[in-house]
Amino acid sequence: MPISALTREDLIALDRADTLASFRERFSLPAGVIYLDGNSLGAMPRATAGRVSTMVEQEWGTGLIRSWNDAGWMDLPGRIADKIGRLIGAVPGGMAVGDSTSVNLFKLLGAALAARPERRVILTERGNFPTDLYIAQGLSKLLAQGHEVRMVAPDDIAAALDDSVAVLMLTHVNYHTGAMFNMSGLTEAAHAAGALTVWDLAHSAGAVPVDLAGADADFAIGCGYKYLNGGPGAPAFLYVAPRLLADACFPITGWWGHAAPFSFEAVFRPADGIARATVGTAPIISIAALEVGVDLALEAPMAAVRAKSVAMTDVFARLVQQRCAGHGLEIISPADAAKRGSQVSVAHPNAYPVMQALIAHNVIGDFRAPDVLRFGMTPLYLGFAELWDAVEVLRRVLAEETWKRPQFNVRRSVT
Ligand SMILES: *Cc1c(COP(=O)(O)O)cnc(C)c1O
Repeated sequence: MPISALTREDLIALDRADTLASFRERFSLPAGVIYLDGNSLGAMPRATAGRVSTMVEQEWGTGLIRSWNDAGWMDLPGRIADKIGRLIGAVPGGMAVGDSTSVNLFKLLGAALAARPERRVILTERGNFPTDLYIAQGLSKLLAQGHEVRMVAPDDIAAALDDSVAVLMLTHVNYHTGAMFNMSGLTEAAHAAGALTVWDLAHSAGAVPVDLAGADADFAIGCGYKYLNGGPGAPAFLYVAPRLLADACFPITGWWGHAAPFSFEAVFRPADGIARATVGTAPIISIAALEVGVDLALEAPMAAVRAKSVAMTDVFARLVQQRCAGHGLEIISPADAAKRGSQVSVAHPNAYPVMQALIAHNVIGDFRAPDVLRFGMTPLYLGFAELWDAVEVLRRVLAEETWKRPQFNVRRSVT
């Protein structure tokens, strides 16, 4: 890429050289829309509608309950879980799919605290995603043993790892800023302090390289509906290092976690493997939809996805600086690509109406309180020239003050 000012022609050249360009047509995206919100809700793979319709009409409609055996529904959750595991470097046998990210966090955090009964601190980042903080607070209150959720600044985490810390609970890529933690370094530091780790991969799975096995991570969770393109409210995933499974004690013990669910025993006995981290009947239709997105992600080499993601976040940040100077924007994502996930966050005092105006002009990103415009880069279905066009709309919305119109200043429930 040239060091001088970028032109739209430069970006068209990048699109021509893009080895991932053919993935775009595998997604259903409305014409004219520039979608920069795949970090929040991934786009729909074209094959999803057919897969879901076959499942609903044939497997459910005709096969009825026989499909648990005949259509392989029993094996479906484990199969998709293992596929997601390949995207994030999981040790085989540690992955399960189902429930929401929030609920999976509750389960794994509960198991982690039970494994460190003499310690009382859950260490995390103050800027972590709220549900992660709320789950930790709720669990601490429920346990009523004096647990504390200690929230520190990102740079203070390593120093805060002392012998009171039971669990280091972090989101690998911060939802607000896009800043990415060094997973292996912090996991090693946590282990050296005698603590366990729970990593939230909501903004990592399918977006950045993750090597749970290489980092010797203990527990992890993540979303199916962001970069995995599983659809709204898609089932989440969880990971427990198999070395911890035999002693792991989960706070929700449902019949799918039992050693023999169809023995209908009166007393809970945990399953040997990762099944003990599951709870109840898996959402089969949603898992089928998720598999389509995961299969697409597995087709794309992660090195190419990361290279394109880094190029896109670099280009977007440069274009914002180059074309929107003087309009009060401040890029808050790390400038160093090695410390950044697949998004660019830009602060502006009027971020909410600015984003509403962008969306009205078919540039879809999102707003995060109090003042951030969030732009997610999804290498599988986004092109470089679209970044130029998006920044051009941003420039016009700011220069022409379109965002001041009353309709863009009405707060809606989802931002
Ligand atoms: C998106 C996200 C979640 C979402 O949790 P749900 O239970 O699916 O609503 C949780 N944690 C982080 C860090 C996220 O980014």
